[in-house]
Amino acid sequence: MRLTFLGTAAANAFPEAFCRCQNCEQARTLGGPSLRKRSAVLINKDLLVDLGPDIMASAQIHGCPLDKVRYCLQTHPHADHLDLSHLLSRSPAFGVVALVLHFYASPETTQRAATTFVRDLADYSLLAPEAEKELNVRMHQINPLEYFSVGSYSVMAFPANHAPGMGAMLYSVEENGCAVFYGADTATLLEETWEAFRRYNVQFDLVILYHTYGKDQPGTDHLSANEVVEHAKRLRDEGILKPDGRVFATHIAHEGNPPHPELAAYARQHGYEVAFDGLILTI
Ligand SMILES: [Zn+2]
Ligand SMILES: [Zn+2]
Ligand SMILES: [Zn+2]
Repeated sequence: MRLTFLGTAAANAFPEAFCRCQNCEQARTLGGPSLRKRSAVLINKDLLVDLGPDIMASAQIHGCPLDKVRYCLQTHPHADHLDLSHLLSRSPAFGVVALVLHFYASPETTQRAATTFVRDLADYSLLAPEAEKELNVRMHQINPLEYFSVGSYSVMAFPANHAPGMGAMLYSVEENGCAVFYGADTATLLEETWEAFRRYNVQFDLVILYHTYGKDQPGTDHLSANEVVEHAKRLRDEGILKPDGRVFATHIAHEGNPPHPELAAYARQHGYEVAFDGLILTI
């Protein structure tokens, strides 16, 4: 399984275009991995996690066209994870000859997306047969804590501790004995998620965790560096991470997090690693 990070920033990107704080200024000076776009990830060439606002720029900058994407797992409807205009821009009416896109989301996320779409982007519902034809898309509403098949992948959704009422989901994706957990956005993982890990006896090669805030900042409804450290330890202690498994942080905010080299050095000392835009992992 090959995983490409298309974006690794929190909602406001890093550097934040309107911000002159020390973290943003240093990131501008350093460039490279310190320049982060809003979070999304590509698995192999055909599975996208989050139809995020920056995926077009990511595809251009990191040389990874998305023409083979057949499936999208949507975590939740927050604007830093879902830009519905991409459904129009990849449609036949915009000159794109693409494969059918199977779009998976919770019922709550689907409903919010449908409301936004008909309000701002088109005069038909995202859930109408017309949408399937116009957008070359199939909508699938999924429930948490049960396996479902997505092409060659076995996927499970877990309820996120984030955005109450929006049906926010985290996902595990397995293929050929390799398993990845995408844990963004969420505050501390819910006990029912840890319970499900044990019940299904999952063992991950790779765990990707939400890391909005930095060292010694309170996590509140977002994970901070200290909480990522605790999660990485618990994942190892409980055998949910394979012995050679890796934990990567994503969704990095300019508030409290230093530019990439400094944050990566901190992470290495504390049992996890920090993703950056364009990073490719093969597991
Ligand atoms: Zn977010
Ligand atoms: Zn800033
Ligand atoms: Zn969110």
